[in-house]
Amino acid sequence: MSILLPALKLELDKLYEDGSQEPLIHKCKEDTHEFKTQLKKLKAHLNKHIHEVEASTSTNNTNVEESKKRLRRRELVVEKLNKAHRQWDHSMKKNCKHTAQQHTRINKFLNHKMHEFDLDLVYVNKLPPESRANIDRAISFHISRYNVGNLPVNGRQEIIQYLNQVYGITEDISEKFVQMGQIVQDMKQGDTSSCVKWSRDGSLLQFELYALNAMQLFQHGDVLQTYEHLTENVPASAFKYRQLQVITQVSPLLTQLLLGQKIDDLEEKIQLQLNKCISLFTKEYCSQNKLPYDSALFLIILSGVISFQFFIKYQSIRASAHVDWTTEDELPFDVTLPEFLTHFHPIFICPVLKEETTLENPPYSLPCHHILSKKSLDRLSKNGTCTFKCPYCPVNASKAKTGRVNFVML
Ligand SMILES: [Zn+2]
Repeated sequence: MSILLPALKLELDKLYEDGSQEPLIHKCKEDTHEFKTQLKKLKAHLNKHIHEVEASTSTNNTNVEESKKRLRRRELVVEKLNKAHRQWDHSMKKNCKHTAQQHTRINKFLNHKMHEFDLDLVYVNKLPPESRANIDRAISFHISRYNVGNLPVNGRQEIIQYLNQVYGITEDISEKFVQMGQIVQDMKQGDTSSCVKWSRDGSLLQFELYALNAMQLFQHGDVLQTYEHLTENVPASAFKYRQLQVITQVSPLLTQLLLGQKIDDLEEKIQLQLNKCISLFTKEYCSQNKLPYDSALFLIILSGVISFQFFIKYQSIRASAHVDWTTEDELPFDVTLPEFLTHFHPIFICPVLKEETTLENPPYSLPCHHILSKKSLDRLSKNGTCTFKCPYCPVNASKAKTGRVNFVML
């Protein structure tokens, strides 16, 4: 993967113009736009020309010099038109061809380079059926989490039905995201009222929405309405808890409004503010409804992509050193994942046996809250027949007074 990723990036980069963020195919749009502008200009010229000819024929004013000039002008217009068309045609063909070629190359790259490595040859333990069911669930969650706002249907029941018919997502998953998707969609369309209604009184979300509304009103140019909104619609808690935000966000807006000043890049600022509100809202919505904020599917795939290089390395070591997997649920090598991916799979090493706890050997907590694995507990208590001293503190414990430990992510 350490070789594959940069190579893939290199191929992808070729889809973009040199040193630009714009994909190559965008150039076609730009060129077409330019060509259209040219056409409009030439059309205006021709219209003018027609008018002149009509005017001169109606007055019977046949000035030879004038008509020669007009003829020359018309020829110039035609010449320009031909030239513009040739340029546009050339650039369209060139860019389309280039993009298509590059797509084919990436396809080939993905089909060959990526498939040279067969994961099934390395990881020989088959996934249990319940894992597949979990993956299906993660896919359903992912689609519901990100797609509700982009569906061709509206309305709660219609959305749930659509997700079920098209993607086979069951109602127990999709219904959780319907309201969230609808509110996000409303916001993207410039209507924040549903989100305002949803937001808690005194929350940061409520305040940011209030600021967003003010900016939107300001953009529409209604000074009086903006002023009213800024001074009268203030959430009661705004001035109490959010003085800093009022000073940095609201006051400047109010001042600029009163002075009749324009705000630089207002549109861009509104977009930023909107994104901020959407992200705040989705975070609050997910935590309130006990939904994961990040898509599990995305995190799984990301972890997989990052671990891939370790699999490749392991394969070559395995071939020469004749080592193999020892446990089914454990990788025989360490995978270093970024911080935000590491806290999903809490592991616990039993301090007595120095072994990781598993489903068969789960962790148990003693009355003193020290934790051991089931195997050590059985050993120390002689299968629950006697009391024993905690290996870490002087407290006495018996098997009856222990409890199974479940690690949860907080
Ligand atoms: Zn203890």
